[in-house]
Amino acid sequence: MNILLAFILVVSLFAMSSHAAPPFSGTVWVDSDIITPSDPSSFITITPISSESRPIFDRRANNGSGGWLTLNPTMFSAFYLDGNAIEIQVNPEFDFDEAASKAEFYGRAIGQLPKLLRTDVKTVWIHKGDEAFGGGNDNLLIHTDSTGYHGEALEETLFHEACHTSLDSRVYGNAWSNAQNLDNEFISIYAKNYPEREDVAESCALYYAVKFRPDRLTQSLVSLVNETIQNRILVFDSFDMKPVSKADVPASYEASSGQLILPAVKAAGKNYELILELTDPGSLVFSLQSAIETESSNYVDTAIYSDGLLSVPLFLIKSDTFSITLELITSQEGAIDFKYLTHVKKELIAN
Ligand SMILES: [Zn+2]
Repeated sequence: MNILLAFILVVSLFAMSSHAAPPFSGTVWVDSDIITPSDPSSFITITPISSESRPIFDRRANNGSGGWLTLNPTMFSAFYLDGNAIEIQVNPEFDFDEAASKAEFYGRAIGQLPKLLRTDVKTVWIHKGDEAFGGGNDNLLIHTDSTGYHGEALEETLFHEACHTSLDSRVYGNAWSNAQNLDNEFISIYAKNYPEREDVAESCALYYAVKFRPDRLTQSLVSLVNETIQNRILVFDSFDMKPVSKADVPASYEASSGQLILPAVKAAGKNYELILELTDPGSLVFSLQSAIETESSNYVDTAIYSDGLLSVPLFLIKSDTFSITLELITSQEGAIDFKYLTHVKKELIAN
């Protein structure tokens, strides 16, 4: 064996026996398809509320070092099928229409996060500026010009920040410290540099990915995450996180197509996505266009069929909400039709 070959062999053996480094620098950027824009959202709608003075953190304040401002933001309540409303506070540097559009856009993206991560998200701050997002303070902080977070990694960034808001105070503790010791490695350099501040948020995004979206990852990535943080994964498992499923989305009526879209109707223990079409506007009869078995709800039943009645507790027409009941009727041709029976205007109330 020549000397050079022997040298390479020794160096390689040394590298293998030494402690491996964290596999990633930061987990927000590992895979931008953990949540995508077309994934389901439990977001229902936003409604404007009257502006009041609010303390708001803005990273641009104090010449870019960040600080608290007192503003009269443009405010909206964002409502979700599975939980409490969020007060979205938009910096008055946006005009009203822009503010509403930003509140709706981010409100919807936040509704794609598992309910557990929204537990403590009471408010959202939206500012202009190319600055980092933030979590904590029972809040999510958004700067709309931060291009890095606005591309494909928007949902992963919100996920990370919502972990700070809703998980940090629940997860850090003895069980987590034990898991850190047992794993003897961090998922990212960022987590390793801030083991008591970033480890939960950094680990959680990839926990969610391997647990609920392994089909979107390579097998080697799934194995790498499972091997690197296997004890932390057991801690996360104890929190019973559940993703927003296709069945956790509000039912809606599209006036342009005359279609009533029911993402999940529970019938005889199964869930079906139903599309009905208004075929007789005079007597409000809807014909069944399609029925496809779909995922079960993780949070609430959005529609139930039983004994000839189809009950939809929350039904969206533009931004107005109703509960409606339809009745099964069978036409002479044997088609399945539903006739409108009753409706009640449903006021969404922020608690
Ligand atoms: Zn963080």
